[in-house]
Formats: sequence, structure tokens, C-alpha cells
Amino acid sequence: MQTGITTYALTSFAKNAGKNWNLIMTDILAIDPGTTKSGWVFMVNGKPVDHGWFDNEKIYTLLKMYQCVVVIEDVGHYGMPVGRDVFETIRWTGRFDYLAIEICKLKLVYMKRADVKLHLCFSPRANDSTVRQAIIDKYGGDQVAIGGKKCVACKGKGWVGRGRPPCLECNQTGYETPAGPLHGISGHVWAALGVGLTYYDSLTNPDETPM
Ligand SMILES: [Zn+2]
Repeated sequence: MQTGITTYALTSFAKNAGKNWNLIMTDILAIDPGTTKSGWVFMVNGKPVDHGWFDNEKIYTLLKMYQCVVVIEDVGHYGMPVGRDVFETIRWTGRFDYLAIEICKLKLVYMKRADVKLHLCFSPRANDSTVRQAIIDKYGGDQVAIGGKKCVACKGKGWVGRGRPPCLECNQTGYETPAGPLHGISGHVWAALGVGLTYYDSLTNPDETPM
């Protein structure tokens, strides 16, 4: 039955009634929480526009700054004893949750890694590298999504200052091919992007998304 979900959605909507969610619904701050640092990505219309791997205290700043939906990777149940790291991560998740919902009045969604795997790779057994490749493919493949091949003439420096003329080969960008939307993403930011993207697809393509 959907009743519980609907009631929750309505309550959540009423709580956020002061904000126009129709306008900002697709702005997403996705977070992969960790014990001391968390990966994050800010997405507009499904495209990552900013990302980072921040000390957890600094994630507070992001939650206060962005007026958007927050998507957090949920800790899965592993069916085996878990270490201290998991508890520490859950504590941080709770702090982010409190700040987002109670203080910043943001909509918050939890997403399990298993749902990301199912959505992007159609298999709960997909590993990190296949999930990563599935994300890259969704954004147009390696060349388009990542791109950013360094300019051979200036070796990526673009040559500005110190008496150097601006590099004409790359128009000072330092890149031979333009940097794509996923350029520079690494480590935990991929996990954040995975939950953000899966949530975004659930908004735009609800039929194809396991949520
Ligand atoms: Zn150059």
C-alpha cells in the first residue's frame, strides 16, 4: 500500500510549503557519507555542476547553502557483524539528516547502494567499477563524459602569466578535448553521483527506477 508514503510526502510537503519545490525539484545535493569525510555532488537537471570530498563538518556548509533535495547513500544491512566505521558513518548521517530536515527544512531521500546497482547495472551484484562505467555511459561515454585530454602544446597549463603567451592550441583552457561533466570525479564522489543520478532518474523516468 502507498498510503504511508503518500502521507509522509504530504507531511513533508506541508513542512516545506514555504519553498517552491516545483522550481527546484531537480536540484540535488547527493552525499556518500563516511567516517570523517564524505563525497558529494551538486546536480542541476541531472548534470553534476560541482563536487568534492569534504571533511564532514564542511558538509554542514553545503546543506545550509543549497536549497535543494538532499539524497544520502543509506547504509545497507550486510547480514554480518559490522565495524565501528559503520556506526560512525551512521552518526554522521544522523547529523546531516537533522540539519537538512529540522534546520534547513530540506527534502531528504535515502538511497541504498543496492538500488543504484539495480538501476544502473540491472544487477545487485554489480561492482564499483561497473557502476562507474554505467554512469559514464549515461553521460555519453568516456570521451564526452570525462574528456579533458590535456593540451600537448602547453601540457595542460594554458600558459598564462610569467611572460608566456596564451596557448593558442587550446585557447588557454589547457585541454585538447573539452572537459566533460564528470571530469575530475573520483573515489567517493562516484558513489554520491550514483545515488544522485538514480534519484534524478526516479523523478524523470519513474517507471524505470526501482524506488
Ligand atoms: Zn594549450
